[in-house]
Amino acid sequence: NLPPLLKRDFQPASGVEAITDSSSPGPVLRVMQWNLLAQALSTGDDNFVLCPSEALAWDHRKLHILEEILTYDATVVCLEEVDHFSYIRDNLAKVGYEGCFFPKPDSPCLYTPENYGPDGCAMFWKSAEVECISEDDINLCVASGEETNQVAILCELKYKTSQKAFFVAVTHLKSKKPYWELRHEQGKYLENRLLRQAKDSPLMVCGDFNAEPTEQVYATFKTSILSLSSAYCHLSSEMQEPEYTTWKVRGGSHGRQTEDAHCIDYMFYTQEHLQPVSLLKMPTGDEIGEKRLPSFAYPSDHLSLVVDFVFKD
Ligand code: NDP
Ligand code: CA
Repeated sequence: NLPPLLKRDFQPASGVEAITDSSSPGPVLRVMQWNLLAQALSTGDDNFVLCPSEALAWDHRKLHILEEILTYDATVVCLEEVDHFSYIRDNLAKVGYEGCFFPKPDSPCLYTPENYGPDGCAMFWKSAEVECISEDDINLCVASGEETNQVAILCELKYKTSQKAFFVAVTHLKSKKPYWELRHEQGKYLENRLLRQAKDSPLMVCGDFNAEPTEQVYATFKTSILSLSSAYCHLSSEMQEPEYTTWKVRGGSHGRQTEDAHCIDYMFYTQEHLQPVSLLKMPTGDEIGEKRLPSFAYPSDHLSLVVDFVFKD
């Protein structure tokens, strides 16, 4: 008796030339980015106070999480806050995905009374279409070289038929507003790794950056010599990021509730190699509902980003 999952439509990408070339544009590469909300981080006194506890039960959430991923049927799926990797891997394997997982060194999930192991980043790909040539598990470091508690995965994937290769990275940067400098250093570290390992190749960088577009780490990726654009700017004719990719109400001290609707999830791509043609729209506030996220209709506080790309060459 599961209430229906929030359904969203696709929209053509704005600000890009329509593909008029009659020669075949090649396959559409659909990529999903989603912080699916770690089960161990979904409960707690200050957490998601407007969401009914039944909606947060894993037996309910796990079905909507799978449904969300299966609905959009992406070739590559990038996930953060995965603390039930084997459940997702075993179920996605039934429909032809392979995947990898890299946990955070000292995941906050491990400090919750009921937990399912550490959370981390994961990547899945459709193994009939693409194969993984290399996987790099990355501990993000600060400028001094010290490791932080945040991670990334960089995979090189290759189409089995055309042999065309491309890179996809997934990351989840440090949470909470005051840590903007740490996020900046983590972003610089990741950018450097990408410059060393993926320069001059088609590349998508997906993640929960925990940073609004005004933060330095966002500028690092937008102005990188990797020549990256942000896919979700193509949802608006003004080429602005969406107003929100996460919308939640948390309890605070003295029962004071705080509502956060902001844009912190991104999918960057190399503009000389890739062109977004279509994007999954963000739902309106009315569609999300007044109790915001997560809810009976959507299992995470973050909305998924789904983009169809074509290769330019
Ligand atoms: P991060 O900031 O990277 O991770 C915190 C995680 O918790 C993120 O996934 C974040 O989600 C989520 N989160 C943020 N705010 C809340 C909230 N109010 N309620 C529930 N979840 C939230 O931190 P680190 O990995 O660096 O770990 C630091 C945290 O982990 C500490 O604050 C501590 O609570 C806990 N910890 C505890 C230890 C201990 O008890 N000894 C040891 C190690 C860690 P999002 O990114 O979506 O905001
Ligand atoms: Ca979270």
